[in-house]
Amino acid sequence: MKYDVLVIGAGLSGLSAAALLAKRNLKVAVVDKSYCPGGSCGSFKREDVFFDQGSSMLFGWGERGFNAHRFLFNCLEEEMDIIAHPQLYCVHYKGEKIRFFPDIDQFIEEVARLFPSQKPNLKRFYGDMEQLYTHVMVEHPSYTTPDETDRKEMLQAMLSHPVSYLRFLSYLNKSAKSLLSKYFTDPEIFSFFDKLTSTYCYTTVEESPAILSTVMFVDNHVGGSYYPAGSALMLPGKLEKVIEEHGSVMIPNREVVRILFSGNKPSGVQLDDGSALYADQLIYSGTVWNLYGKLIPPEYSDPKRRAWAASQVPTYPSLALYSVVDRSAIDHEAMAVEMLVGDPSALNEEEVTVYIPSIDDHTLCGKDEHVVLAIGPSFRTWDGLDAKTYQMQKEEEIQRLLGVLARRFPTIKEHVRSTELATPKTIERYTMKNGGAVAGPKQVLGNHMFKRLHIRTEYPTLFCCGESTVLGTGTPTVTTSGIAAANAVLSQRGLESFVYESGMKQYVHLITPPYTPDQLYASDDGQTRSVKLKARRCQICEHPACCQTSGLDIPSLMRRVMVGNLKGAKQLLIASGEEDFESLQSHCIREDAVDIQQVCSFLLEWESPPAR
Ligand SMILES: Cc1cc2nc3c(=O)[nH]c(=O)nc-3n(C[C@H](O)[C@H](O)[C@H](O)COP(=O)(O)OP(=O)(O)OC[C@H]3O[C@@H](n4cnc5c(N)ncnc54)[C@H](O)[C@@H]3O)c2cc1C
Ligand code: SF4
Repeated sequence: MKYDVLVIGAGLSGLSAAALLAKRNLKVAVVDKSYCPGGSCGSFKREDVFFDQGSSMLFGWGERGFNAHRFLFNCLEEEMDIIAHPQLYCVHYKGEKIRFFPDIDQFIEEVARLFPSQKPNLKRFYGDMEQLYTHVMVEHPSYTTPDETDRKEMLQAMLSHPVSYLRFLSYLNKSAKSLLSKYFTDPEIFSFFDKLTSTYCYTTVEESPAILSTVMFVDNHVGGSYYPAGSALMLPGKLEKVIEEHGSVMIPNREVVRILFSGNKPSGVQLDDGSALYADQLIYSGTVWNLYGKLIPPEYSDPKRRAWAASQVPTYPSLALYSVVDRSAIDHEAMAVEMLVGDPSALNEEEVTVYIPSIDDHTLCGKDEHVVLAIGPSFRTWDGLDAKTYQMQKEEEIQRLLGVLARRFPTIKEHVRSTELATPKTIERYTMKNGGAVAGPKQVLGNHMFKRLHIRTEYPTLFCCGESTVLGTGTPTVTTSGIAAANAVLSQRGLESFVYESGMKQYVHLITPPYTPDQLYASDDGQTRSVKLKARRCQICEHPACCQTSGLDIPSLMRRVMVGNLKGAKQLLIASGEEDFESLQSHCIREDAVDIQQVCSFLLEWESPPAR
């Protein structure tokens, strides 16, 4: 099968690139090993509870600042409802709860409680960083990666604030610590900033490039932090919707095992079932290690390049605890994102980021419960264990993490309703990140930015995006890399790129929390809303009992209906030729079976509106 563009990986970066290319009417295929799109920004369900696999605190949706997600959805002309957290998050540090307010002065007051002597320095530091951020990021919005930045445009932007730009660029090869040292005299404060760089980049202030931390320290305050209304599932789901509405295709449950070459050019991929797909251009969004270590046959790559790829340092392997607890276990002061610091002077297993998305989004679980996710490093060995030892170690880690949570939420252990743990092995299985490295290769000084994988590779038909590329980890950055990869492909084809224009029509709607069940699908007519709510009851089973002998992939169909991708859902239904919905429904694992008959009958009647 031949496509215009093949995208390897349906994480946020690959989906963003694919959706933009589909929007330009290119025939795109997106291949992913997993059964569900999203990668580290994916979701899963248990009963009626929605869990985020990874990302739960999303950036880049605000009206100002580095708002790559807003730009993406404006380009795609796709509506998106986003909950804006009133306070960004908080850090529990040395017995103090430091709240990150959007207002920087208010935030400085919080930090000054810990470091009173540094208050004037904090003001000076944040004042300078905010000015730099405004001049470089806000006044000249640019949604591309540094390796793809147009020099002429860059020069024009520089002329408006030459001093700020020169200063910003001078941070390229400096560490965040060297920048902080110019402002702060109390060495203790570096440990505090360590926790901030660790949250965003999984690096210490010594390791973090100053150019990225200047943006990072200010961006959340200016840009805000967010959650997709109705579950993080909405984000990859909406991108998949655009892809399918424009005639492109998703190919789940298939691993790309090799990149195929025609002469010296990548021209296709071999899949794990032995089949091959071909395309004029390829975009790869997985890790740099797999690209050079597995996918590109050694006869087509330079040994120095392979050695360079292998030398990239991984971020730490991570654990993710997914739990449901009684609502009463979480106090009213709790925030949707809290960081619990164990040892202020070093990273240890006590350092956990807690996401409680159900505080702001009441549609994620029952009224009397909360979804609690705890994510932190794991320094135990998970490789080579027999099944029994692996399970035992998982159980120990669940109890340990509950213990860490109990220091913040004292009664949580008595109120746990269910727990599930993802180990580094699980993360590797579902995202193909080697060793479960939470954020792929570390953005560490010396091996940073331009020294990482670029959007354009040494092969003219192979492009890259995602965590291994120049900007590194995090939702708005990988999305930016996807935009940059799509634009590089478009420019090679002589097609119009996606660029920022002032006055672009806005498709992102910010919602003040709480987001409640009555707001879900509220703009739909009664029948459509009722069908979407029925679909939302599906658990999106990885191994569905309902359709084992049928060609119809019910969980994928229900997932599409939940996010409003009715065209994609109908295509699955028609392609399967399935008609015996009653029999499928009778095999549903839910006590009160998902109404497969009603959802499918509705889809058969549904007429697709013309593509925009
Ligand atoms: C536990 C966790 C929590 C996080 N929390 C946050 C957060 O709160 N906020 C935030 O901004 N960021 C967070 N991040 C980081 C953020 O989620 C990631 O940076 C981002 O989602 C990565 O997107 P990506 O497209 O680069 O790659 P991924 O999400 O890793 O997706 C890559 C996809 O490609 C597929 N793939 C790779 N190779 C192949 C192949 N050969 N064949 C087929 N498929 C392939 C994989 O299966 C995967 O689905 C978190 C990450 C993790 C792991
Ligand atoms: S309809 Fe199928 S996929 Fe959905 S919950 Fe029932 S068995 Fe699972």
